[in-house]
Amino acid sequence: MSNVVHDGIIDGKALAAQVQQRVAAAVAELKQKHGFVPGLAVVLVGDDPASAVYVRNKGRRTTEAGMKSFEYRLPADTTEKKLLERIAALNASDEVHGILVQLPLPKQIDPAKVIDAIAPDKDVDGFHVINAGRLAVGRPALVPCTPLGCVLLAKQARADLTGLEAVIIGRSNIVGKPLAQLLLNENCTVTVAHSRTRDLPEVARRADVLVAAVGRPELVRGDWVKPGAIVIDVGINRVEGKDGKARLVGDVAFAEARGRAAAITPVPGGVGPMTIAMLLANTVRAACMQRGVDLPEALAGL
Ligand code: NDP
Repeated sequence: MSNVVHDGIIDGKALAAQVQQRVAAAVAELKQKHGFVPGLAVVLVGDDPASAVYVRNKGRRTTEAGMKSFEYRLPADTTEKKLLERIAALNASDEVHGILVQLPLPKQIDPAKVIDAIAPDKDVDGFHVINAGRLAVGRPALVPCTPLGCVLLAKQARADLTGLEAVIIGRSNIVGKPLAQLLLNENCTVTVAHSRTRDLPEVARRADVLVAAVGRPELVRGDWVKPGAIVIDVGINRVEGKDGKARLVGDVAFAEARGRAAAITPVPGGVGPMTIAMLLANTVRAACMQRGVDLPEALAGL
């Protein structure tokens, strides 16, 4: 992959475009050599505008990569039973290799039941307990897309993370915890911090790789960053700018941190674009697992 770090900024948009190209090459190879095209089904329940945008983008990027995209929009009052029936049908479909149910779900539906119902080998979000367990014990797994993207971004700044101190702020099941496993696999010494951590700035200052996945605008200040660290900012926070217009900021005070970090991801344009790119890669991986074929060379290392 060509260099995406310029002036200490890791360009997630450029990296995501490179991943998408590799996915497209892998899809073309699978079609030519094995005669099948990976398919991704995305299910949206209700009409949350942000979720609708995500779903539309996922569909567009799936087709751009040469894969089949299936979109299901169900009304906000859909029952849990109806959604589980839809998932059962997708589990049984030969054309669908990846299933993603857009979260959050309306309150009458239990998200845990929905995630449990997705066939683990089609669980391209990597949220199923079987995939979390596989990741924890080091077996081949479908891994959540955002943490996968974080590791790939960090490795653009330094190809080998072995022996580095990694501090992750945030312990959610979708970001912090799986990322801890992935960074352990990269031979980092991993600390997972959270809202009860004592003296968070001091813990953060230990980090050669500092990841913020909190959801608090600019929580991480410049002086929390060890000089020369790699900083990955997962946070997406909508705040009101001085002009009264809404703008997006991360969990890291970017302008302050940039002066100390060796490399840092911006918000927007860092982790965000990588999440969909890794979803596409996961769909190809899931399709290969289900068809019993090797992952194409184009996706090696992803
Ligand atoms: P959660 O709300 O599930 O988890 C937040 C974590 O941050 C919790 O572990 C919480 O600790 C910890 N935390 C909260 N406040 C503090 C604090 N003051 N000091 C230290 N730790 C704190 O969030 P997610 O993991 O789902 O998401 C985190 C952020 O990443 C959000 O901004 C979200 O929008 C963004 N995100 C971005 C994605 C992308 O594609 N770029 C994808 C997914 C998320 P505790 O466990 O103790 O409560």
